[in-house]
Amino acid sequence: MIIVLKSGTSLGEIERITQELRSWNITPEKIVGKQKMVIGLVGDTAVLNTQQIQALSPFIEQVLRVNKPFKRVALEFRYGESSEVLVATPNEFIAFGQKHPIVQVAGPCSVENEEMIVQTAKLVKAAGAKFLRGGAYKPRTSPYAFQGHGESALGLLATAREATGLGIVTEVMDSADLEKVASVADIIQIGARNMQNFSLLKRVGAINKPVLLKRGLSATIEEWLMAAEYILAAGNPNVILCERGIRTFDRQYTRNTLDIAAVPVLRSLTHLPIMVDPSHGTGSSEYVPAMAMAAVAAGCDSLMIEVHPNPAKALSDGPQSLTPEQYEELIQKMGAISRTIGRWSKSYPRPPVQDDAIHLRELAPIV
Ligand code: PEP
Ligand code: MN
Repeated sequence: MIIVLKSGTSLGEIERITQELRSWNITPEKIVGKQKMVIGLVGDTAVLNTQQIQALSPFIEQVLRVNKPFKRVALEFRYGESSEVLVATPNEFIAFGQKHPIVQVAGPCSVENEEMIVQTAKLVKAAGAKFLRGGAYKPRTSPYAFQGHGESALGLLATAREATGLGIVTEVMDSADLEKVASVADIIQIGARNMQNFSLLKRVGAINKPVLLKRGLSATIEEWLMAAEYILAAGNPNVILCERGIRTFDRQYTRNTLDIAAVPVLRSLTHLPIMVDPSHGTGSSEYVPAMAMAAVAAGCDSLMIEVHPNPAKALSDGPQSLTPEQYEELIQKMGAISRTIGRWSKSYPRPPVQDDAIHLRELAPIV
């Protein structure tokens, strides 16, 4: 349930309302939006009726029910306003969200050695990426496959961060490593295979770091949003959802089926920022550009793309990795699409307003 407050409601009145709700065993959450001030209610709200809440204060404009199993991640919980996830990187704050430029995240599947990670970081930064992704702990299907260099790879990510100023995205697989991973990562990745590792979700929910939650291999959108709900319920509102393809019947030509429709579907269901990973989504570098462009056109807020200086020699996911040159070319194409759909950025600035005016004058009939 949410309570929409009238504009000008005093802090004292909000405090009085929330105190009263707590005494009913309901957890109120104050949400200060750009349009409205809202109090989200979590708990056994089924026993409450809207008139009962309305009677609490003359400053209550509206009481609405969130008729979904997920509450805090629901779009209604913020009265239809999308949220942003602000991430501190060495040199700047980067915002993920619908009202911000598309954020590019790129790098190799695994951190292999210092030279390759620093070189890749420099190249993806030059192409326009704001974050370096690289795995230290790798969830591999085979126990005999390369498992990642673990803690020493975290150190190499820290070196690349220092050398470039890029933010770092890296995966945590085990709660036991969370502290170490969080000391290097600016965004902690929860991989597809751990999407429903509820104890891990609670642990990342209890720390103060943005979380990138990848969609489970066969997760429905509702299961995925419920997983995100765990993180928010544990106290961490900074969650980015990442569509990375799901298991369908055809594995002959693509590794997964990238669910592009998830982008507008999520947009209608949740306020959280949306990322797309066309690399794991297709499993083939040949198909990555088309799906990356489709994801931009569909309205995602961010992309995660695997880039390796020498894909043929990669220790994991080489076949789906772009070379830095291919990545650079793709960034240009994505930029053109994002500009077309009105997602401006520093590299693709909005044209000066007078240009629009001139254009309109040219079109206007002469009277
Ligand atoms: C990855 O990002 O390298 C990865 C293992 O992704 P996923 O969890 O989506 O398979
Ligand atoms: Mn990978």
